[in-house]
Amino acid sequence: CGIVGYIGKRDVAPLLLEGLQRLEYRGYDSAGIAIQAKPAKGAQGAGLKTAKAKGRVRDLESRLPKRFAGTVGIAHTRWATHGAPNDINAHPHTDADGKVAIVHNGIIDNAADLRAKLVADGVELVSETDSEVLAHLIGRSQASTLEEKVRHTLALIDGTYGIAVLHADFPDRIVVARNGSPVVLGIGEKEMFVASDVAALVSHTRQVVTLDDGEMATLKADDYRTYTTEGSRTSSSPTTVEWEA
Ligand code: GLU
Repeated sequence: CGIVGYIGKRDVAPLLLEGLQRLEYRGYDSAGIAIQAKPAKGAQGAGLKTAKAKGRVRDLESRLPKRFAGTVGIAHTRWATHGAPNDINAHPHTDADGKVAIVHNGIIDNAADLRAKLVADGVELVSETDSEVLAHLIGRSQASTLEEKVRHTLALIDGTYGIAVLHADFPDRIVVARNGSPVVLGIGEKEMFVASDVAALVSHTRQVVTLDDGEMATLKADDYRTYTTEGSRTSSSPTTVEWEA
């Protein structure tokens, strides 16, 4: 029911937990986080780390592994539509290689069809959610960029979504998309935020870009761009939100 994401220089887990808490009023049954794990000294990339839990944000917090450092991550509060509220059905969902992590708000209407096709291709789905297909489809896309992988996947989807995507091979970015579920970008100084609601952003920045349906965005620490799901650039000047603290 809520999405938060961050890319920048600060330690991401506390920022995401705080963002999730600001979305608690929307209601939810479980919560989760995925981060680009900080590589050990000298190593290339450490890959993704995920933690999730049925229950409250503080249940998730108590379940975070000791080593959960990184500066890029996405998080979710879930309001179950497909599959019971439990640890496995909580988001983020990952693909078979653990290279892709997604959080999704909304409902994928043709999830049953897409699941059946993936199963026929030998993919093992671990949750009962409609959302998990997104992670597998993005992971299996042959496209060379993350943006293209997500575009190709969204072309297969009927339904509503606000999504945020991490990929271990593209650690410098978060890709997000909107169709029917709100996605707002928060533009900071050498850091970017994304959330389903400005309430999760305003303690960090008042500069926001609200995505339209059919729009996507790539967030990097010091740069962002918006474009349609067909790939053409859209204008994305931030507006300043008024907010009573
Ligand atoms: N349909 C998805 C699920 O049941 C997402 C629900 C949500 O928006 O939180 O997991």
